[in-house]
Amino acid sequence: MRSVDIVVAGAGAAGLVAGIAAAERGSSVVILDSRAKIGAKILAAGGGRCNVTNEYVAPSCFNGGPERFTGRVLRAFGLDATLRFFESIGVPLALEESGKYFPASNTGRTVLDALVTAASQAGAVIRTGAAVQGIEPGARWKVAAGGEATEAKAVVLCTGGLAMPASGSTGDGYPWLARLGHTIVPTSPALSPLIARRAAHAELSGLTMPARLSLRAGADELAAFDGSFLFTHTGYSGPAALNISRHVARWRWERPEADVFASFLPAVAAPDEDAFWRSLLASEGRKTAAGALGARMPRRAAEMIAAEAGLGAGARIGSLSREESARLRAALFECRLRISSVAGYGKAEATAGGASLDEIEPATMMSRIAPGLFVAGELCDVDGWLGGYNFQWAWSSGTVAGRGASAYCRRTKSAGGPRA
Ligand SMILES: Cc1cc2nc3c(=O)[nH]c(=O)nc-3n(C[C@H](O)[C@H](O)[C@H](O)COP(=O)(O)OP(=O)(O)OC[C@H]3O[C@@H](n4cnc5c(N)ncnc54)[C@H](O)[C@@H]3O)c2cc1C
Repeated sequence: MRSVDIVVAGAGAAGLVAGIAAAERGSSVVILDSRAKIGAKILAAGGGRCNVTNEYVAPSCFNGGPERFTGRVLRAFGLDATLRFFESIGVPLALEESGKYFPASNTGRTVLDALVTAASQAGAVIRTGAAVQGIEPGARWKVAAGGEATEAKAVVLCTGGLAMPASGSTGDGYPWLARLGHTIVPTSPALSPLIARRAAHAELSGLTMPARLSLRAGADELAAFDGSFLFTHTGYSGPAALNISRHVARWRWERPEADVFASFLPAVAAPDEDAFWRSLLASEGRKTAAGALGARMPRRAAEMIAAEAGLGAGARIGSLSREESARLRAALFECRLRISSVAGYGKAEATAGGASLDEIEPATMMSRIAPGLFVAGELCDVDGWLGGYNFQWAWSSGTVAGRGASAYCRRTKSAGGPRA
């Protein structure tokens, strides 16, 4: 049986940085991954460019476990540390106008290659094609993978969530944690397209425009996001739809009647709608609805809104009846999208839910239930907004876990070995 200080299960974003952090601190580390080729998500991310992080990183950009927990982990290894780390492994990051950081090389391949090189330079061994079958606690942990067992003082679980299962992330870590007594917060797809009950807007497929999306159940607003919005053949995508998707998926469990409403003029805040409408009628009352709105948004979208309101093609905006006017305002400011579901994990960029943070120590990411077990990355009950946040969580939690695991090994060495 092989013996090392630390086994890291999963060589994705979190596992690679955990392995680097632990090996740099002198621990012997093996990183096991089920795939023959690792890093599928790093290569696919950001359309191949890999959106590594964001200029604005705060706990409020993350859903799931409590902000005081994510805040602590982000303070331990935050944006500045992330920028310095990537610079140190030869991947300077460039800030774009959107606030997103990408590698200056503009390709995720640079990120993956640099992480793999840094891991091996630090002394970590990466074993690919080594699917971990299970983990067994004890005075030394036993990790069975690829027909052989490795024993270790500490195990760092970084097997990811359920998003993009073709990448190798198939949720293997959840039952292992549950068997050890960990609570798994129910999972759902996050950052996934919205599927519409009736494909009313399918003819606009491919059109992008700004929108404010609001998830509502009766008078309760459950979540809201502003941002770019994309019509698709089956429903809606783009940042605003992707960001709200995890809320749609989860609120549907408790409030099945909840639906998403779109304002197609998000620059006009709700209290200003009356004033906007009065000035539109005064200045452009002689135009058709599609003509007046078409000056403020793509013409096809303006036509869709007029049709949604049931207006005849030639109806002038200044001559609408009170009822027609109300319908037009509703189609413009609170168009019901009739969402039937959120696309599944195959289309999702992240997983909501996972290992409850209540049972993890934020200073080290060590399990409060099973000493010597560390958890990081998407496996945790944390999912971030679109824009580099999910990788930021992987870099932050993975580094904290790697450091924590290494310190645990040093402590147990000086204390004469870990307790079972
Ligand atoms: C298409 C797409 C685009 C994305 N773009 C971005 C982006 O631009 N910016 C951003 O911040 N986030 C992005 N994300 C999210 C980001 O990729 C993830 O949040 C992040 O990769 C999670 O890191 P992780 O290490 O926890 O898990 P993963 O990266 O999923 O890695 C888990 C690893 O564990 C391995 N594994 C699983 N089970 C086993 C097992 N039994 N034994 C051994 N190994 C196992 C897997 O093979 C995998 O290599 C994107 C996601 C997708 C799907």
